[in-house]
Amino acid sequence: MSKYIFITGGVVSSVGKGISVASIGKILKSRGISVSAQKLDPYLNVDPGTMSPYQHGEVFVTQDGAETDLDLGHYERFIGIELTQASNVTSGQVYSSVIAHERQGDFLGGTIQVVPHVTNEIKRRIREVAEISGADLMIVEVGGTVGDIEGQPFLEAIRQMKKDEGRDNVLYIHVTFLPHIAATNELKTKPTQHSVNELRRIGIQPDVILCRSDKEISEGIKDKISLFCDVDKEAVISLVTSETIYEVPLLLEDAGLGELIVNRLGLRAERSNLEEWRDIVARLKAPKELVTIGLVGKYVELQDAYYSVREALCHAALAHNREVKIEWLDSEQLDGLADEKLGQVQGIIVPGGFGYRGIEGMIKAAKFAREREIPYLGLCLGMQTMVIEFGRHVFHTDRVNSTEFDASSTYPVIDLLPEQHGIEQKGGTMRLGTYPCHLMAGTIAARAYGREVVYERHRHRYEFNNKFRQPLKEAGLIPSGLSPDGKLVEVVELQGHSWMLACQFHPEFKSRPDSPHPLFVGFIGAAKETLIEGAQTSLPLN
Ligand code: GLN
Repeated sequence: MSKYIFITGGVVSSVGKGISVASIGKILKSRGISVSAQKLDPYLNVDPGTMSPYQHGEVFVTQDGAETDLDLGHYERFIGIELTQASNVTSGQVYSSVIAHERQGDFLGGTIQVVPHVTNEIKRRIREVAEISGADLMIVEVGGTVGDIEGQPFLEAIRQMKKDEGRDNVLYIHVTFLPHIAATNELKTKPTQHSVNELRRIGIQPDVILCRSDKEISEGIKDKISLFCDVDKEAVISLVTSETIYEVPLLLEDAGLGELIVNRLGLRAERSNLEEWRDIVARLKAPKELVTIGLVGKYVELQDAYYSVREALCHAALAHNREVKIEWLDSEQLDGLADEKLGQVQGIIVPGGFGYRGIEGMIKAAKFAREREIPYLGLCLGMQTMVIEFGRHVFHTDRVNSTEFDASSTYPVIDLLPEQHGIEQKGGTMRLGTYPCHLMAGTIAARAYGREVVYERHRHRYEFNNKFRQPLKEAGLIPSGLSPDGKLVEVVELQGHSWMLACQFHPEFKSRPDSPHPLFVGFIGAAKETLIEGAQTSLPLN
């Protein structure tokens, strides 16, 4: 039987609840406890797949093809597990299934209510992950902040879980924020007191309070929170903003949280072993030479949109004992400045995206990389823009395009698959999740992976158009990765270029700090050799 930790947030959003869940998972797994994690998102969308990155940041894709919250990316990267669709529950999913049951007559005669019908469905979905994973411990994060209207049924459901599962099998952790008042140089606890009061009003008494703040928390502050919120002082834990997110598990472990959870829940645990992780964090924090990568996309002012790409670059750089410096280049602003801006980077990465806006700038970036021999890594849309650019070069016309951007293109080098034609519904209708890919021996791709068959996660609707495979190949665009039946081009690379490769899948979702992704490692390896005149590539040692 699984035990449960429920994590709620108070005061403000974006205080690092997702990182806290991931870190708690990491410290408990390091004690030999099997852990699974789940995110409950109170919004009404069925999944974030149709949401703009401006609203939601990155959409993280699980191996079974679910479009999920980016917090699942933190859970996978920190805990080292692979999650499934069931690990991201939204109000949209819960209400859809309750209403579908009602229409089928499953509750015949009953009035359908938030309590118990909606809360039962939420609890069923929480237990489902516990059962499928067989984990000793389930860590469940409730999205949003206590007090949000949509969050109420979720809080009610997790409140009931304590009674259902046994009082010793459930632990509530509340993550709050302590604002710092500069004028008096003090941290304030009042918002935390209010949010704990709000939790209590619902019937949840937190067992642990994680206090996020930008300044060190004094003993006096801890005493105050302990007194007003009725939480043992040892369970008031400070979460001071750290230099790298990967340090958070170490901060929490060193503050005694691992021990406290194990004792409170009566978990059978080994001694904590975070040595490898400590080494990674020490290496991350040590001053290193820089490698400068230009990331060309249209959401660059909102870096959360490329969360996994940013992390994968950081992991790969560390494998080369470098620190990655990302130049966030807005693809809509590259006009006329492409040479100047791209001339300052050692490698160019074009990540995924949808829609025409910003595409021409991405195509310029691919052209720059091809002509100047700059290492290039294209991810999904970044492969499509590389193919379009090469097509324009080979066929000498700008009429080369993807039908996503120009439906009447004369050279539709990227197009819908026949089975995708006629799909009208937007949500969940893409090619999603893990597919195998066979690599051609002797290519950059095969060398980077050191394997013949790889499994990678997809999220796209358009594909390389096979009508153009032969002419483009003859001109030097090598289809170095194919689907097992040979019908889908999954990886392309440019013959004669030192490192210009793009893939139809999203390798960034599988990179971890302790196992960087081979394509990113290959890319950074090539980029670090690129010399930029006059550029500062080393960090001042202080
Ligand atoms: N818009 C492109 C497609 O749907 C690429 C998607 C992506 O980059 N994830 O095929």
